[in-house]
Parts: sequence; structure tokens; C-alpha cells
Amino acid sequence: MSDIKLLITGSKGRMGQAIIRAAEAQNVTVASTVDVGDALSPALAKADIVIDFSSHTFCDELLGECLKQGKSLVIGTTGHTNEELAHIREASKALPIVFASNYSVGVNTLFWLTRKATELLGPDFDLEVVEMHHRMKKDSPSGTARTLVEILADVRGLEYDKDCKHGRFGDVGARTPKEIGVHAIRGGDVVGDHTVIFANVGERVELTHKASSRDTFATGSVRAAQWLAGKPAGLYDMQDVLGLK
Ligand code: NAD
Repeated sequence: MSDIKLLITGSKGRMGQAIIRAAEAQNVTVASTVDVGDALSPALAKADIVIDFSSHTFCDELLGECLKQGKSLVIGTTGHTNEELAHIREASKALPIVFASNYSVGVNTLFWLTRKATELLGPDFDLEVVEMHHRMKKDSPSGTARTLVEILADVRGLEYDKDCKHGRFGDVGARTPKEIGVHAIRGGDVVGDHTVIFANVGERVELTHKASSRDTFATGSVRAAQWLAGKPAGLYDMQDVLGLK
């Protein structure tokens, strides 16, 4: 039995339910749960670390209460506004926070491979990111697609467009070398597919990850919570947890 006690926020959602199952499988205690309508403060008092997969609209309330009670956070929620992202960065000066757009080992390997491939292939390859998710997903493009664009932009020395308005639809003319295309497809029950396309004249490289179960994100988030226990204040991501940096 691990010593940490978890609060799961967004506990009634698809991810919340998967995390409760993953914690049980890893012998980690879920001390309390919170969803819409539940009181946060007493639930948080029973736990050491929060795993949050809820809604970005809950972000400020959750950060405020964690700061008040000095509790650590694993944030899986995506779709934050720039203001909310700034609040997460500010809170991490006082609290240990893991914040990752994707908690799967496979996608974090895709992040690593994407950086390497972009460096190796050089500036002549056109860069496109394509993602597909289930019909209920609220944010678009996905947080993972945004991280992929951030990596591509970083290697190419391009300014990262946080709103990801790079997507090009229909007949809008030739692409420019400074574009990074992002395309979000929604439908059915797809858990999460991401492909990075490197296209040049005469050849193309594609890196693809397909998640077939939410359990991979859930298991990764519980692993992140275990890793976070006892860490100093700071903003960490899944690459830190997996030792990929
Ligand atoms: P969901 O809609 O199934 O579940 C969200 C839950 O949060 C719901 O039960 C909802 O009632 C609850 N909630 C909403 N507002 C709340 C509030 N103010 N207080 C408490 N609870 C609140 O969604 P989901 O598929 O479980 O995804 C949840 C989030 O996690 C999304 O932002 C999604 O993009 C993200 N996600 C991240 C990863 C990752 O690896 N980082 C993986 C999958 C999903």
C-alpha cells in the first residue's frame, strides 16, 4: 500500500472513473472524490495530492484551495485559457505540480521522437499534426496536439501560436514553410489518435500514436502522483516523471 492519499476531482467523468480503478489496481488510497456540487475544502483536507481531470473552469477554485491547504497537484485537464495557465505557473512557485497534456508513456515517447525527427529531417519538411477524438471531447485541438505543435515550433524556431489557429481548410492556396498545420477530427468513441506528418517532395515520415483505452492516462496520472510525493515546489511534466529529460 502506497502512503499517499488522493483526492480525485472530476471523479464522475470518463477519466475520473478510470483513475479510481487505476489507483485501486496500484494499491493507492483514494481518500476523497469531488465532482460538480461537492464541497472541495473538506474533501481536500482528507488527501495529500489531487489528481484533476475535470474542466478548466474549475482550475482557479482548485488552485486557490490547494494553496490554502498546501496540497500537491497532478493536472490532466486540458483546454485552459492563457490566464488560467498563468495561474498554474504562479501556483507552482509554492506547490509541487505535475501538469501534462498527456499521461501515457506512449505519447511521451511520441513527444521525444517528434523532437528528434524534426531535428534530423531539417527545415525542408512540411509539418502537419492530425488528431482524432470521440464526439464528446470539448476542447479542440487537443492538449496533446498543442504540445506536439509546441515541440515542432520550438525546434524550428517559430513563434508558437497558443491558440493553434494554424489549421488550413479547403482551397486556401499553397502552404508556407513557416506553417504548422493542425487538424482536429471528432467522431464516435475514439479515445485519442495523434499523427505528426513530415512531408517533403518525394518522401514522407509519419509518427502515430493511438490510445485504445483511457487506462493508459489513468495509470500514468497515478504514477505521476506517486512520483510527486515529497518533491519541492515547481512545475513538472510527464517527461520529468518518466525521466525522459
Ligand atoms: P468528462 O466530461 O467525462 O468528465 C469531466 C468530469 O469533471 C465530469 O464528471 C464533470 O461533472 C466534472 N466537472 C466539471 N466541472 C467541474 C467542477 N467545476 N468541479 C468538479 N467537477 C467538475 O471528461 P473526461 O473525458 O473525463 O476528460 C476530463 C478532462 O481531462 C478533459 O479536459 C480532457 O481533455 C482531459 N484529458 C486529459 C488527458 C491527459 O492525459 N492529460 C487524457 C484524457 C482526458
